[in-house]
Amino acid sequence: MASIFTKIANREIPCHFIAETDEYFAFLDINPVALGHTLVIPKREVDYYFDLENNMYGGIWVFAKKIAKAIERTVPCVRIGVTILGLEVPHAHIHLVPLDDKGIINFKNKVDITDEALAQLAAEIRKKLA
Ligand code: AMP
Repeated sequence: MASIFTKIANREIPCHFIAETDEYFAFLDINPVALGHTLVIPKREVDYYFDLENNMYGGIWVFAKKIAKAIERTVPCVRIGVTILGLEVPHAHIHLVPLDDKGIINFKNKVDITDEALAQLAAEIRKKLA
């Protein structure tokens, strides 16, 4: 069965879209730990991040860099932090998380934000893509 992220990339279920290429896809995390928390995935479904083949493993970072810069231009933050967990969704993904000056990413501490606000934030980030 396709993962929820494959279904998102195939536009079978909705997301707050940020950007895509033929191989990669970025969208806002639906349960963000910070404003602008974004997920970057390969479209090809691979569970474990370190099982990505080398070209994709390298390519996804180049794509993620472009997304991180757009988030940075949109959300007040010190820099963009990176986390890879994959404990919940078995489809490799990078978490891009804006950091404040404390530099803490706490996955148990979610931001309370409406769907409408997420949609608006995604639109603002999309505008800042170079
Ligand atoms: P993990 O697999 O532990 O890296 O966590 C999966 C992440 O995916 C969590 O931060 C979830 O909030 C996020 N997530 C799960 N389902 C969706 C969805 N439909 N749209 C956006 N983000 C999601």
